[in-house]
Amino acid sequence: MASDPIAPLRVNHHKQFELRDHSTDATLGWHKESAARELGRVKLRLDVLQQRLFAEKQRSVVLVLQAMDAAGKDGTIRNMLSGLNPAGFRVSSFGVPGGPEAQHDYLWRVHAEVPAKGLIGIFNRSHYEDVLVVRVKNFAPRAVWSKRYEHIRGFEQLLADEGTTVVKCFLNVSKDEQRKRLQERVDDPEKRWKFRLGDLDDRKLWAKYQQAYQEAIGRTSTAAAPWYVVPADRNWVRNLAVAKILLHHLEKLDPKMPPPEDGIDGLVVE
Ligand code: ADP
Repeated sequence: MASDPIAPLRVNHHKQFELRDHSTDATLGWHKESAARELGRVKLRLDVLQQRLFAEKQRSVVLVLQAMDAAGKDGTIRNMLSGLNPAGFRVSSFGVPGGPEAQHDYLWRVHAEVPAKGLIGIFNRSHYEDVLVVRVKNFAPRAVWSKRYEHIRGFEQLLADEGTTVVKCFLNVSKDEQRKRLQERVDDPEKRWKFRLGDLDDRKLWAKYQQAYQEAIGRTSTAAAPWYVVPADRNWVRNLAVAKILLHHLEKLDPKMPPPEDGIDGLVVE
């Protein structure tokens, strides 16, 4: 591949990871107007590769989206999928575990959502909540959650070994941008449904969440399942970056159309 424009966002697992070194409002040298055209081109290519992945039916991809509230997980998914074939994607959202989810280990519900061969899964939150909210809010003791980084590395390696590429994006929004967006949710009747008072409790725990993200990302970014820290204060940068990250990994997979059945070559349909 000629160049890898999203390389600066990838968390290098050989280096000590510092979340504070990552900008929330970088433009990555892109310009808003040309970025819209570029996103169009990226989408066209995503469409081609998604179709090949589907036709090949040998491998699958999971794109994990994690973020603080209002960083734009929903907007990213909406933007990413518009214009693409919905049949090739599966979106899974993970909320507070309830019912049978709460009766099993934390990876149970996640494994069940891993897309079948040929599909691209988008995880709106994920197993990472079990080392984020669970840690920050003491839903489990340290002795329990501290073992999970290793489980997660093993789980994602298993998926990689069995044909599922896992790619993880942290949408990195600043505390001030989050304040503006939460205020907008309060003020705009069309957005108010998204606002929960509990969002303010999480906001008060901002520093603890940043610490938990820092450790989660630092300890689980691997060659098999890398993390990307995506600047998320500007929606257009965030959308283009995530689309490019997915495209990069699909290009690496290089899915191929399956060979035709014997006897099809040169066949004339009457
Ligand atoms: P979102 O905020 O992603 O748009 P919701 O408003 O439904 O969606 O919030 C989902 C909530 O579920 C979040 O507060 C998240 O922290 C919580 N959650 C997800 N996974 C877990 C988990 N394993 N344990 C506890 N809470 C979780």
